[in-house]
Amino acid sequence: MASEAKENQAAGHRPLRGLVMTMGALHAGHAALMQECRKRCDFLVLSIYVNPLQFGPGEDFASYPRTLEADLELAAANGVDLVFAPSDEEMYPQWPTTPLVSLNPGPVARMYEGAARPTHFAGVLQVVNKVFNLVRPDVTCFGQKDAQQLALVSTMVRDLDMGIEVVAVPIERDHDGLALSSRNTYLSATERRQALNLYQALRAGVKVGQEGGSPAEVLTAVRMVLTNADLNPDYVTLVDPLTFNRIDDNRPDLARPATLALACRVGKTRLLDNVCFTLGGNNL
Ligand code: AMP
Repeated sequence: MASEAKENQAAGHRPLRGLVMTMGALHAGHAALMQECRKRCDFLVLSIYVNPLQFGPGEDFASYPRTLEADLELAAANGVDLVFAPSDEEMYPQWPTTPLVSLNPGPVARMYEGAARPTHFAGVLQVVNKVFNLVRPDVTCFGQKDAQQLALVSTMVRDLDMGIEVVAVPIERDHDGLALSSRNTYLSATERRQALNLYQALRAGVKVGQEGGSPAEVLTAVRMVLTNADLNPDYVTLVDPLTFNRIDDNRPDLARPATLALACRVGKTRLLDNVCFTLGGNNL
């Protein structure tokens, strides 16, 4: 698909700047974002910053993996032109009295991830907004892995007329289906095996949805797999990928994009996963 940004450039505009934002501990999922963004721009900026504002009390801010040397190598291998890895003092010079001005991410930010982490999305949008202002990208790639974050960033860009192309990049998975995450390093071998049930549960739900099942039946199928694996999810939900509004009506005649998403603790590690698919429309 031709990128909007590339089309602008073909029309004789200035070189295009791309941005990929991360918290480091980079893996193949981040590399996929860099590669996608590289194709769409002339100068690629990678930010690496473990943003304290998006962590709540008792979360893993202090223990979050920090692997800057290896990250710089992966960045160079994936066509990054500039790495922006600021300190807390650079990002928030008035800390801890900052931010005095912040964004209200709206009602969607209080659901799902936001229900478990009430200040999370305000912190995410704060840092995304700041880095957008510092880098001034034309195009930015975000992972489908954090589907609610992607929906909120896209909404912010649209609502505030930021004029940035936000590209969604599909989830990169390990050979056995586990969604890649910097937090997978917290899992023991037994927990990692148990974590495979997350993707299997989502696939079971997608199958039910594609065979004409109702949203409630889709969610039941997911929960059944998780329960059988002794897992108790924080939430399982079926939502519109763009708005993150819940889909709970049964319209098997209507084909529409849906995101089946869940969060679940495996041992002490909270993992996210989701699958995008077409719900309804008499797929059979
Ligand atoms: P993080 O470093 O976890 O904050 O993630 C930075 C960006 O990488 C976000 O846009 C994530 O959605 C994306 N990302 C993380 N894991 C994956 C993955 N397995 N596949 C695709 N994108 C990912």
